[in-house]
Amino acid sequence: MSCIFCKIVNNEIPSSKVYEDDRVLAFRDAAPIAPTHILFVPKRHMASMAEITPGDAELIGHIFAKIADAAREEGCSDSGYRVASNCGADACQTVGHLHFHLIGGRKLTPHAG
Ligand code: AMP
Ligand code: ZN
Repeated sequence: MSCIFCKIVNNEIPSSKVYEDDRVLAFRDAAPIAPTHILFVPKRHMASMAEITPGDAELIGHIFAKIADAAREEGCSDSGYRVASNCGADACQTVGHLHFHLIGGRKLTPHAG
């Protein structure tokens, strides 16, 4: 498996972990664009949002609940934050393992075009 995020999940390459349980791992982005920039990944490899099915509803809901927890812990729950997931080439997805960016801690621009 050459997927870099699977390697992070399997502790084959290091990461700055923020949260982990049996289904999800959260770690700090290596090139943060804001004071808070955390990536949330399902431990099971999925290439992108395009592979999400109704059977993944509980998993995705769980991930979003953990994102909300982390935002509170980072102190940006009241000030605001953004959750983004790039899907495919037009969205400039660079790592082919589903991930959600939690970005906050500063005033963001209205749209990420
Ligand atoms: P995307 O462009 O949406 O696919 O996001 C991929 C993100 O992964 C980028 O923000 C990268 O900075 C980040 N990234 C790539 N490799 C690593 C790594 N080894 N550890 C942490 N973040 C990484
Ligand atoms: Zn993977």
